[in-house]
Amino acid sequence: MHVQSEEIIIQGSPGSPGISFGPVHVMARGFSAPDVYEINEDQIAREQNRFEQALEITKGQLDQLRTHIENLSGEEEGKIFDAHLMVLEDKTLLRRVSNAISERRQNAEYAFYAVMQTFLEAMRRVNDSYLRERAADIDDVCQRVLRNFQLDTDAPAADRPDHQHILVAYDLSPSDTASIDRNHVLGFATEQGSVNSHTAILARSLGIPAIVGLEGAVIDIKTLSDGILDGYNGTLILNPTAETVKTYQEKLNRKKLALKELDILREEETTTSDGHRITLSANIEFTNELPMVKQSGAEGVGLFRTEFYLLDGGEMPDEFQQEKVYSEVAKAVAPHLSIIRTLDAGGDKIPAEPLSHPEPNPFLGWRGIRVSLTRKALFKEQLRAVLRASTSGKLGVMFPMISGISEVLAAKELLKESMDELDKAGVPFDPNIEVGVMIEIPSAAMMANEIAKEVDFLSIGTNDLIQYTVAVDRVNHYVSHLYKPTHPAVFRLMDITVRAAKDNGIWTGVCGEMAGQLAITPLLVGLGIDELSVGAHMVPSIKKAVRSLSQSECSEMMKEVLKARTSPEIAALSENMARRYYPELIE
Ligand code: PEP
Ligand code: MG
Repeated sequence: MHVQSEEIIIQGSPGSPGISFGPVHVMARGFSAPDVYEINEDQIAREQNRFEQALEITKGQLDQLRTHIENLSGEEEGKIFDAHLMVLEDKTLLRRVSNAISERRQNAEYAFYAVMQTFLEAMRRVNDSYLRERAADIDDVCQRVLRNFQLDTDAPAADRPDHQHILVAYDLSPSDTASIDRNHVLGFATEQGSVNSHTAILARSLGIPAIVGLEGAVIDIKTLSDGILDGYNGTLILNPTAETVKTYQEKLNRKKLALKELDILREEETTTSDGHRITLSANIEFTNELPMVKQSGAEGVGLFRTEFYLLDGGEMPDEFQQEKVYSEVAKAVAPHLSIIRTLDAGGDKIPAEPLSHPEPNPFLGWRGIRVSLTRKALFKEQLRAVLRASTSGKLGVMFPMISGISEVLAAKELLKESMDELDKAGVPFDPNIEVGVMIEIPSAAMMANEIAKEVDFLSIGTNDLIQYTVAVDRVNHYVSHLYKPTHPAVFRLMDITVRAAKDNGIWTGVCGEMAGQLAITPLLVGLGIDELSVGAHMVPSIKKAVRSLSQSECSEMMKEVLKARTSPEIAALSENMARRYYPELIE
């Protein structure tokens, strides 16, 4: 007999818009603590085999990484991986895992995880700082092996549900998100993460409905409960009644209809009601988003996040492979401008290379231009690739995580060297390629007047500008209530930036998530921003919002905004204006 369980509503934060209906599958805490289940005698050989396969895949990856690092930084640096490889060849450890499979009848990933955790705990307790630090390396290898179990196609069905489902997980890294199998995963919810994490940004780009910050989800939710995931308002409903299903189906239909209605604006310009023209472009992470960009009516790509090449321990493609990708973008978007942002590895994203010690504060660490300026060969390969592709359409190049003028000068110097090298080799390129920097660190905003004299445009990365201005980690959901896009300090810094650009005759864009938030559009129009770059799915509604607003009224409102003392005051000013001019777009 089937007993209908009670309907349960769990509230998280909206991560990516959309509604999905289906059974829920819960994945154990991150990838670090795999599910444990007992195996039968006739499954022992299969599990031993799975273990060996995961080890082999990992060794192959580490070998590749070692060669890559040796080429970049020399043999000494490459040796870091010898220690990693040695762990995978340690006979005692391997025997213990094998025994746990055959004698304790544990599934392979759990057997491996349990043995490694015991070993790591012992190392961490030793009173020797060198050994304690090595524990971090071993932890890293352990994670890698566990991930490689996920790749193994023989994994039991419980681990790889082959039915369509809503995925619930403790956390998903940006690379987990990018490799989600769209045929099976209808939407996902995570306990960790916040709206501005790269995981949520990717989910929006890929059009996967998502919820973040759903506390207690992994423990509280049972696999195979029926669910509805509402990515618009961050609600997960378990065991929905027929009436709830109907309500959400109607909501989904309304949303689809509204999008269809906006489609008539596709060919229209993004101009305010009093004639102020704004360029509306799209952010992309992968070239397979290009058809969506075209379909959306965007007038360019304002941000191509190239670091997503590094997914799954991958390497940056070589100069010619990169040239191919950038040419594809340039051609698809021509005659409009496509801005290729140089590698912004680090932070919550993929590291440029495995580090011998984990960074205590990755967001304040080896990230963005800091990596490029210490790995000059890698940086110049990327710059030459952009230059080579610049004859295929209209390309710009942009540097992330700039904190001051010296980094701008150093990056430009390397761009000049790259141009000279191509010149010498007789390779054509656009010598007037637009060069810009991201303003996403308060120090760069304060120095915008000096920086503006060195570049062709400034693009404000509000995701990071907010995090660094108010000192709130953008992915940490414990402090997400303090991550305030409308904080007065953020708007004062943005105002300094826009004025510096105007004084120096260059343009300013906004490519952070703020550019796609309809309740904030009046503030960006009021600041006098020239370009907004948003996820392709937001292009039609932002276009409609800008066309409904009057630039002079918004800039009048900015006088109030710049005098405001609190974030709610600014949010209210903007939201009132938004509700007055486009209430149908604001929920
Ligand atoms: C930003 O910081 O606003 C930005 C656009 O860059 P990313 O989100 O990739 O850090
Ligand atoms: Mg950024």
